[in-house]
Amino acid sequence: MADYIVNSDNNSLNGDDDGLSAKELIAEGNGLTYNDFILLPGYINFAADDVDLTSHLTKRILMKAPLVSSPMDTVTEADMAIAMALCGGIGIIHHNCTPEFQANEVVKVKKYKHGFIRDPVVLSPSNAVADVVNVKKTHGFCGTPITEDGKLGGKLVGIVTSRDIDFLEDAENLNSIKLENVMTKLEDLITAQAGVTLAEANSILEKSKKGKLPIVDAQGHLIALIARTDLKKARSYPTASKDENKQLIVGAAIGTREEDKHRLTLLAQAGVDVVILDSSQGNSVYQIEMIKYIKSTYPNLQVVGGNVVTVKQAKNLIDAGVDALRVGMGSGSICITQEVMAVGRPQATAVYKVAEYSRRFGVPIIADGGIQSIGHIIKALSLGASTVMMGSLLAGTSEAPGEYFFADGVRLKKYRGMGSLEAMDRKDAQGSAMDRYYHNQMDKMKVAQGVSGSIVDKGSVLRFVPYLQCGLKHGCQDIGAKSLNQLRSMMYSGELKFERRSYAAQLEGNVHSLFSYEKRLF
Ligand code: IMP
Repeated sequence: MADYIVNSDNNSLNGDDDGLSAKELIAEGNGLTYNDFILLPGYINFAADDVDLTSHLTKRILMKAPLVSSPMDTVTEADMAIAMALCGGIGIIHHNCTPEFQANEVVKVKKYKHGFIRDPVVLSPSNAVADVVNVKKTHGFCGTPITEDGKLGGKLVGIVTSRDIDFLEDAENLNSIKLENVMTKLEDLITAQAGVTLAEANSILEKSKKGKLPIVDAQGHLIALIARTDLKKARSYPTASKDENKQLIVGAAIGTREEDKHRLTLLAQAGVDVVILDSSQGNSVYQIEMIKYIKSTYPNLQVVGGNVVTVKQAKNLIDAGVDALRVGMGSGSICITQEVMAVGRPQATAVYKVAEYSRRFGVPIIADGGIQSIGHIIKALSLGASTVMMGSLLAGTSEAPGEYFFADGVRLKKYRGMGSLEAMDRKDAQGSAMDRYYHNQMDKMKVAQGVSGSIVDKGSVLRFVPYLQCGLKHGCQDIGAKSLNQLRSMMYSGELKFERRSYAAQLEGNVHSLFSYEKRLF
C-alpha cells in the first residue's frame, strides 16, 4: 500500500485561508439570506453552559438573552412581554389598538408579580353556569371569581370552582342556572389583602387547601387572584430582564404621526422602557422629527428607529439620535413588501451592512424578520446583530394573543402581518397598523404588504425560549465563542469563518433520503 504523502509546502498553513471572513462573504456582491451561507466550526475549550448570551438591546438596555418579540397584534401583548422578560429577553407591545389599551398592557408588565394573576376572568352573579363552562372550554380552567359588576375591580361576592358546578355540567338548562345560586359566597371564602407577599399567600393556600385565593383591597374590591396550580409551577427566573426598581422591562411600538405623541405620553406614564418607531421604511422626515421630539421630551426613554436595510438609511436615524436600529425589509414570514413594492434587501446582507456601520457609533442592531430557527438566530448574531426580533417563531405559543383553534386535527393560532388587509381593517385600531405602511393620510386605497395565516401550537414561551437559549449556547460553543461579545469580535477580526452554500449544499444540510420522519425539536 502506498504511504500517505505529506506535501511539505502545506506545513506553513495555519488554517487562516480556509473559509471567508464576513467582509469577504458579503463583498461577493449578491444579497445573501441566512440560508445562503454557513459558519465554519472553531475550537471548543469550554462547556456550552458557560456561554454568556448577554447583549445590548439599545445603548442603555442590556439583556441576558438576545431575544425580542415583535410588535404584532398576533404576537405581543402583556402575556408575551411578561414571559419574554422572565426569560431574559423583552417583548414589544403592538400599537394596533387604542393608546389606552396599549398603555394598560405596559402597566400589566411593569406591575407583574410572579404568581399573581392581575387580569383574571371575572363573572357576575347574574351570569349563568353555561358561562363558566365556556370559560373552562376556552381557557382550560374554571375557578372564576364573581364580583357585583362582573369586572376586575368590582366588589367580590363569591367564587365558582369546578366543585360548585361539576354535578351540573350535563344538565340541559345551564343557561338558566344563575351563578348566585351555585357560587361559594363571600362569607365562606378565604381571601387575602392587597400587599400580601407570595410566600404569605402560599401558606394561606396550603392551610386552607383551596385552589384559588382572591386578593382584595381594603374596600373588598377584587384586585388579583392567586392559583394554587401556578404556585406549584412557580420557579425563579434568575436571568429575567428587570429595571432598577426590579420591575420587568417592556417596550412598545408607536407611529410617527402627531396623534402618536398622545400615545407616547400614556406609554411614558405607564413606565415603558423603550419605544420602537414602527415603520417598514424608517428613513423619513417623519421619523427623524419624532426621534428628536422623543429625545428632547423624554431624555431617559430609549428609542429604536427603523426599519432600515442600508447604511444611508441608518446614518440619518443615527444622526437624529436613535439608541438602536431595527433592521429588515421584506424578510418577514408574512411579508409581501418585496413582491409588491420592489424594495427591500436580503436579510443577512442587510444585517451585516447596517451593523458594521452602526457599531462605530455604539448603536446596537435588532435583526428583525426571517428568523425560522436557532441557526438563523446564530447567523444574525454572527453578522453583527446584538438581538433578534421574532414574529412567526413566537406566534402560536400560549402567550401570543388569540385563541387556539383546530383545522384538520391540528391545533393552531392565527398569525398575520401588520400590513395585511385584515390587520389594517381592525376596528379598534385607530389607524395605527396603517402607520407602519403609509405616511400619507391621503392614501385612499390600501395596498397590502402582508398576509394573514395560521401557525401550529408551540406550547409556552416559558419552555420554548429556554430551548432557544440552550441551542444558542451550543451553537456558540461549536463556533468557539464563549460570549456574544466574543462572537462579534471574532467576526470583525476575520477569525470567524463563513462559507457560501450552493443550492445542493442547502439540500444536503437539511434532512434527506428518508421515507418519513418526525421532527421534534425539544
Ligand atoms: P417573522 O419573524 O419572519 O414572522 O417576521 C416578523 C417581522 O415581519 C416583524 O417584526 C415586522 O418587521 C415584519 N412585518 C410584520 N408585519 C408585516 C407585514 O404585514 N408586511 C411586511 N412585514 C411585516
